[in-house]
Amino acid sequence: MIRENLEKVRENIVKAAKDAGRDPGSVTLIAVSKTKPVSMLQEAYDAGVRDFGENKVQEITEKYPQLPKDIRWHMIGHLQTNKVKYIVDKVTMIHSVDSLKLASEISRQAVKHDTTVDILIEVNVAGEESKFGVSPAQAPELVMQISKLPGIRIRGLMTVAPPVSDPTENKPVFCALSQLLVDIDAKNIDNVSMDCLSMGMSGDYTVAIAEGATLVRVGTSIFGEREYRVDR
Ligand SMILES: *Cc1c(COP(=O)(O)O)cnc(C)c1O
Repeated sequence: MIRENLEKVRENIVKAAKDAGRDPGSVTLIAVSKTKPVSMLQEAYDAGVRDFGENKVQEITEKYPQLPKDIRWHMIGHLQTNKVKYIVDKVTMIHSVDSLKLASEISRQAVKHDTTVDILIEVNVAGEESKFGVSPAQAPELVMQISKLPGIRIRGLMTVAPPVSDPTENKPVFCALSQLLVDIDAKNIDNVSMDCLSMGMSGDYTVAIAEGATLVRVGTSIFGEREYRVDR
């Protein structure tokens, strides 16, 4: 089933990119595998997936040693400062940086591990109270501050759009993030390359691609619905 699902998602990505006059190769599919067992990730890997997204540090550290080493792990969930040290040498990109405090710890750990970590700034475009991320107004200043830190490289912006019944409702959200990327890029800040836009999930990734997404984070449409245990 995963292979068929992937085929469909890839087809949709190619079509959305072409419809927008974009090169389909400019869009990377991140398979969001949170809560899913290693066997399902292996199945996706065998079907060609190399980019996986997880939102919990513990899941990354558990799955990491059980899967092939050429996987690119993306941390897409809220990250606590005290857990940075467990994943800094395992992830290819951290999508969810929304404070100088978190960025400073990533920088500190990156230097310690003699590596450079690519990060995205998470922006709460729609201003939802329940969401992490900085406001669009705060983003340029935060980029400026983080750009001065060693061991860390800002690559772009990320947003989690609100759940909507009609995906085109999120078009203004994606459009705003895209514009913010252009605005910040125009400032030509040293050590900052604004070339990544992480936006779009199962419900709305084609709309996000139309607005310039370069990284789409798709879980349910590949792996099926998630079951959460009620244990809290
Ligand atoms: C779970 C999650 C996704 C994937 O959501 P689906 O609707 O299952 O595609 C994308 N981004 C983030 C940040 C997530 O937590």
